[in-house]
Amino acid sequence: MSGKTALIVLAHQERTSFNYAMKEATQAALQKNGWTVLVSDLYEMKFNSVLSRDDITGSPKEPSEFKYGAEVLIAWQEGRLADDIKEEQKKVEKADLVIFQFPLYWCGMPALMKGWVERVLCIGFACSYETLYSEGPFKNKKALLSFTTGDPSSMNSPNGINGDINIILWPLQNGILNFCGFKVLEPQITFAVAHIPQEARVEILKNWEKRLKTIWDEKPIRYLPTQDFEGEAGGFLLKKEVEEARSDDKYSPTIGQHLGKALPPDSQVKADCARS
Ligand SMILES: Cc1cc2nc3c(=O)[nH]c(=O)nc-3n(C[C@H](O)[C@H](O)[C@H](O)COP(=O)(O)OP(=O)(O)OC[C@H]3O[C@@H](n4cnc5c(N)ncnc54)[C@H](O)[C@@H]3O)c2cc1C
Repeated sequence: MSGKTALIVLAHQERTSFNYAMKEATQAALQKNGWTVLVSDLYEMKFNSVLSRDDITGSPKEPSEFKYGAEVLIAWQEGRLADDIKEEQKKVEKADLVIFQFPLYWCGMPALMKGWVERVLCIGFACSYETLYSEGPFKNKKALLSFTTGDPSSMNSPNGINGDINIILWPLQNGILNFCGFKVLEPQITFAVAHIPQEARVEILKNWEKRLKTIWDEKPIRYLPTQDFEGEAGGFLLKKEVEEARSDDKYSPTIGQHLGKALPPDSQVKADCARS
């Protein structure tokens, strides 16, 4: 029995969708394995995805020149965030693992889920210049993107017309999850979900349930630790000695820190991607 807590954040309008079926399968499988499962079904909740002054209660510090980030940081420190944000933050605090379940829209999360990220994972609570990436507030938590696509995997390959799925994943997995400190688990991608046979979808659900049995023990995707960078806030450049130590590597350290080299193949979909 795991004794751990998971939060599923779901963004799909329809209960007959494959995304909803994935959410149901996740919830049932984790509960069966002893997890406590919290769910944020964003459409069902009619979650407000729009940032505004209403995200803080009480008087803003600078009402005539309102700066969202600065005001939200103070509101978070003083416990003055809007109730819906606080509720979601409590769920994140409780969660050991956060699973984002969504259909890929325009190479990213649906706007509703992006709004959840923007409002809930606010500065102070989820990130700051003092606690970045591997030092992030959620460094003891894990997170995973589980999503479906319209297009087949071939279209999202290095010579496919959409380009490499790893590049699409970099800003989501590195820029959001890793930025807040989450250990990022391999994404669960169901390509071309509406265009594959029914039996294939049933099999995907079964395999996902199987994966969930040992999900907590999975190795996370590799990113460079914060200690590999130096400089004050606004700097943060890769240390020369780290770059030099990797000078013989065939591939770049990551997709983002490519140093003009070949990108490490499948580094955003596999925890054990090639380095040299
Ligand atoms: C605004 C927008 C932008 C988009 N951008 C992109 C993009 O950038 N890249 C891209 O690739 N795609 C894109 N798409 C396509 C989108 O990603 C797919 O439509 C979506 O992933 C399909 O997922 P779904 O859950 O809605 O599938 P559904 O169509 O709801 O389901 C697929 C099939 O699964 C079946 N099903 C449901 N439950 C079960 C179950 N329990 N067992 C077995 N089968 C089941 C359903 O009956 C259906 O036949 C975009 C779509 C929109 C609307």
